[in-house]
Amino acid sequence: MTTLTHPSSLEAAAAVAPIDGPVLFPGDDGWDGARQAWNLAVEQRPAAVVFPRSTGDVVAAVRMAEDAGATIVTQGTGHGAATHGPLDGRILVRTTNLRDLRIAGGTCRVGAGALWGEVAVAAGRYGLSGLAGSSTDVGVVGYTLGGGIGWLSRRYGLASNAVRRIEMVTADGHVRLIDDRHDPDLFWALRGGGGGLGIVTALEFDLFPVASVYAGTLAWDAIHAPVVLAAFREWTATLPEEATSIVRFLNLPPIPEVPEPLRGTRMMTLGAAVIGGAEHGARLVDPMRRIAPLAGDTFAMMPAADLRHLHGDPDGPTPGLAHHTLLAGLPDAALDALVGVAGVDTPAPLISVEVRHLGGALATPPANAGALSHISAPYVLNAVGAAGTAEQAAASSQRLTETVDAVARWSTGSYLNFAERAVDVDAALGTGTAKRLAAIRARIDPGGRFAMRSTVVPDRASR
Ligand SMILES: Cc1cc2nc3c(=O)[nH]c(=O)nc-3n(C[C@H](O)[C@H](O)[C@H](O)COP(=O)(O)OP(=O)(O)OC[C@H]3O[C@@H](n4cnc5c(N)ncnc54)[C@H](O)[C@@H]3O)c2cc1C
Repeated sequence: MTTLTHPSSLEAAAAVAPIDGPVLFPGDDGWDGARQAWNLAVEQRPAAVVFPRSTGDVVAAVRMAEDAGATIVTQGTGHGAATHGPLDGRILVRTTNLRDLRIAGGTCRVGAGALWGEVAVAAGRYGLSGLAGSSTDVGVVGYTLGGGIGWLSRRYGLASNAVRRIEMVTADGHVRLIDDRHDPDLFWALRGGGGGLGIVTALEFDLFPVASVYAGTLAWDAIHAPVVLAAFREWTATLPEEATSIVRFLNLPPIPEVPEPLRGTRMMTLGAAVIGGAEHGARLVDPMRRIAPLAGDTFAMMPAADLRHLHGDPDGPTPGLAHHTLLAGLPDAALDALVGVAGVDTPAPLISVEVRHLGGALATPPANAGALSHISAPYVLNAVGAAGTAEQAAASSQRLTETVDAVARWSTGSYLNFAERAVDVDAALGTGTAKRLAAIRARIDPGGRFAMRSTVVPDRASR
């Protein structure tokens, strides 16, 4: 990996770099905003932050980094900032200003700074949907480079497998158009391999004919957690692939931002989206309505673009910590373990402990799949804790460890997009895939100009 030998070499390189967009250094006006990730819990201290306004600016930024001997980290939003840590001595390239978005012929082409919420609204005007995740302001590029699972995934698979073409600036300063005919190996690596092989400047991907969905949330008092989890397991075993759902322990903090009567309450919720009309959707969801007294039911037909709000993710920068694991199944012992670690009797609960139903199209590799070809695990556990202060972060971190450890017996590995802690890449992608990715990286970025989130080493000591 390249290291920045002296900050002055970077300032000298920046002084002559033909970059039109802002380049900021520590102490400059706006420095704190420039270095701040979406995840406010991550303190980033890069050597410089570049905001390219064009592909030409990206090329110049890569050449500047080469002149200065610096490593580059690229961010669209900083939702995934925890994977790169403090960024000491690195150049942070933020693609915020590369925001163009075009829809034509059932595909969408976005600049690297585009957010999923923007795609959802634009595609919705054509009666189409992209394969967005649960959050409206996650970046399309960072999400897709790591795979991408969301409300339409069981029907249409991973977002990374819907990619048609990628424009990327590589370490040699060249702008490459990459698809299944132009450097198919690199095209494979970029789809789910985690990124870090260059700076993606634009992405083109398929949209799908989903204009509206039957979707919503059922809510129960958290005392019903054992019944809800067992019913979720039985229910998901019968669901067709047009239904995608998430069950979760939701602990709403006693803060003014949470409306009464939900403020400070502990709930179990089931969120789901069903493609295929109201009658079909209601027929699928109805069995879950009957398992225990409901505290809420918001299911209705809605524009598919509104799915971006269904999960209730914060749509602005937030401090948080997360931990996850893929699960082989939900036997009784696993459900008991979850209730034990996240149920009503647990003190200082995490904000959310959720189990997402995978399977369906996610479990089958399509023809010409990318590096993350599919996910065979039927469920993924993802937990999120508050991290507004150092004390809160320490407590959440411990609770997250306990939560994932409680179901470790059923763990089948990691999913890169949810991996905030160090993961073993072999375990996340398979040894063969990890080796092929390493070989492609050695060809495309031999000097290690770009930090790669998927090269984090196994760090079981922190767990
Ligand atoms: C609230 C929340 C909800 C989420 N929901 C989901 C979900 O439903 N499904 C899911 O699959 N994931 C989800 N995630 C995880 C999310 O997909 C990852 O954190 C993803 O990496 C975020 O991409 P980003 O561009 O927004 O973040 P960033 O932190 O900006 O980027 C993440 C990484 O992607 C790479 N990268 C980004 N842009 C470029 C580029 N232009 N060129 C090269 N590399 C680049 C870099 O390695 C970067 O570190 C969620 C995360 C959060 C915080």
